[in-house]
Amino acid sequence: MKVEVDLEKCQDHGQCVYAAPGLFALNEQGRLSLRSRAAAVYVADVAEENAEELHEAADICPLQAITVHE
Ligand code: SF4
Repeated sequence: MKVEVDLEKCQDHGQCVYAAPGLFALNEQGRLSLRSRAAAVYVADVAEENAEELHEAADICPLQAITVHE
């Protein structure tokens, strides 16, 4: 599966980090750490074993910035 994060929607509040600490993190500036690797949209493969936390992160994101592609 793949995760897609719309970094223009994301406001770095970090709920996804609490829901899926294995997939998301905040950097020293308090911003979503994967920003350093993407311009506007971040896309990456996610292992099946991380499916549950990925779905939790997508559900909890208040900006609906996280999309899961099965
Ligand atoms: S929960 Fe959504 S808005 Fe908040 S940091 Fe994560 S992706 Fe960004």
